[in-house]
Amino acid sequence: MNDIQTLASHLPDPVPAIIDGRPVTARHGVDLPVIYPATGETVSHLRESDAAQVATAVESARTAFDQGSWPRMGVDERKDILYGIRDVLRAHADELGRLEVLNTGLTLDNLPRHVERMARNFEFFAEVISTVSGEAYTQHPQYLTWVTRDPKGVGAMISPWNAPLALSSMRIASCIAFGNTCVLKPSEYTPLSVYRMVELLHEAGLPPGVVNLINGRGHVTGAALVGHPGVDMVGFTGGTDTGRRIMADAAARLKPTILELGGKSANVIFESADLDQALEGALLGIYSNNGQQCLAGSRILVQRTIADEFIERFVGRTRRIKVGDPVDPATEVGPVCYEAHMRRVLSFADIAREDGAEVLVGGGQPAGLERGWYVAPTAVRAPDSSARICQEEIFGPFATFLVFDDLDDAIRQANDSRFGLVAYVWSRDMDTVLKCSRGIRAGTIWVNTPMMRELRAPFGGMGESGVGRDGMRDSHLFFTEPKTTTVPLGALDLQGFGR
Ligand code: NAD
Repeated sequence: MNDIQTLASHLPDPVPAIIDGRPVTARHGVDLPVIYPATGETVSHLRESDAAQVATAVESARTAFDQGSWPRMGVDERKDILYGIRDVLRAHADELGRLEVLNTGLTLDNLPRHVERMARNFEFFAEVISTVSGEAYTQHPQYLTWVTRDPKGVGAMISPWNAPLALSSMRIASCIAFGNTCVLKPSEYTPLSVYRMVELLHEAGLPPGVVNLINGRGHVTGAALVGHPGVDMVGFTGGTDTGRRIMADAAARLKPTILELGGKSANVIFESADLDQALEGALLGIYSNNGQQCLAGSRILVQRTIADEFIERFVGRTRRIKVGDPVDPATEVGPVCYEAHMRRVLSFADIAREDGAEVLVGGGQPAGLERGWYVAPTAVRAPDSSARICQEEIFGPFATFLVFDDLDDAIRQANDSRFGLVAYVWSRDMDTVLKCSRGIRAGTIWVNTPMMRELRAPFGGMGESGVGRDGMRDSHLFFTEPKTTTVPLGALDLQGFGR
């Protein structure tokens, strides 16, 4: 057991739920193993929350919402608690980061970025609640109408395994900042860091019941949560098929949903680009986070005039990527998160060949790393956009190249997808950039840059990449209910019936 694995021994095993601010172990739940992806070893367990425990967690959030201080608190007081949370999380950055590595296999040098994002999510929404306001309508000479926005209620917040701290904190912070309370269900593969984060929220002064944590599989714990009548809204980050199902379950009780789903984002590289920058951007776009990013630039479209040379350079760099132990500072790409996922990612090398694609590099497990869930960074060249490797989200270190002829062809191929999360465009020609910005269907277009998340701007997907947006204005609209009040400005000359 190495240094990082001993960390799990500081947490309860099995990992319990946190309800009303206290750890609670479900009496009848099953225990699921928590596995370190770098070695395949079981480092802990989680006790799955059964339907009864889910109900207790929802009741706690319900009581905190219906009777507690949080929704009734002045914004300044709530802000102080959110800023306090930011500070406490930062003070535990190292511990949280290491737990995240233990659970996800993300490389240790990635983690300061994730942990900072988590802390900033609470800070950001503290700032948002300071600035948002209602509306007033004064057009009618005899009336004043104003619109207040009240917190919406209890949120079911469900998050995935690829960046548990960053993504769970986005769901929680965007929900509770506006005065709501919630029940969080992180992925069953990655309970460790999130458990510690929720403990720390309470140490920072969050009132009990505002954030409750439950653990377990989606079809057991997650489904019980979404379907519980005490839940008013659902915030979900995860795969598209799961999102579809959650939306259907939520629809049965007309619960509003915000869904941040999968992607197969185009990374479009024109001959007019700074090709050195585009190369770095393309490598970062697909291999960051061990290739497991919703916003990965996984379909790399290159203009025919530069394609052969660009792809050759990309493949050469891919061969040199250091894959290995996520704790080793030299490692650039660690393992993927769990075994079945590794097998799925690896299967796409065969699928690529079946569809007539050429595997240029990778396509298997790296030599000497057969023990953990490793996938060699892979690049393939697809015959055309209809190949499955161009249409399906692989969610691993797996790049697919396509070649285009001109601007119209680039936009057509970029849009040949059921997803529409983000797109990357590399060109120094303004006309090309503007036409891509207008023509490509995606929630975010990044020009001449790898991922740059502007928290203030809307973030989310078109098509099967999602429903709704996170962001300053969009989160405010989703997590609050408008209430319109109208009053006359003076006595009215009312003529009622039956005078
Ligand atoms: P997943 O959909 O398998 O699981 C996500 C969460 O949903 C987990 O907590 C899971 O337990 C839960 N779940 C599964 N079935 C459920 C059900 N029936 N009811 C309620 N909850 C259920 O996704 P994943 O494999 O954990 O994550 C990877 C996916 O997430 C990828 O598709 C990726 O693109 C996507 N993702 C999207 C964003 C974004 O912002 N758009 C960010 C990160 C990841």
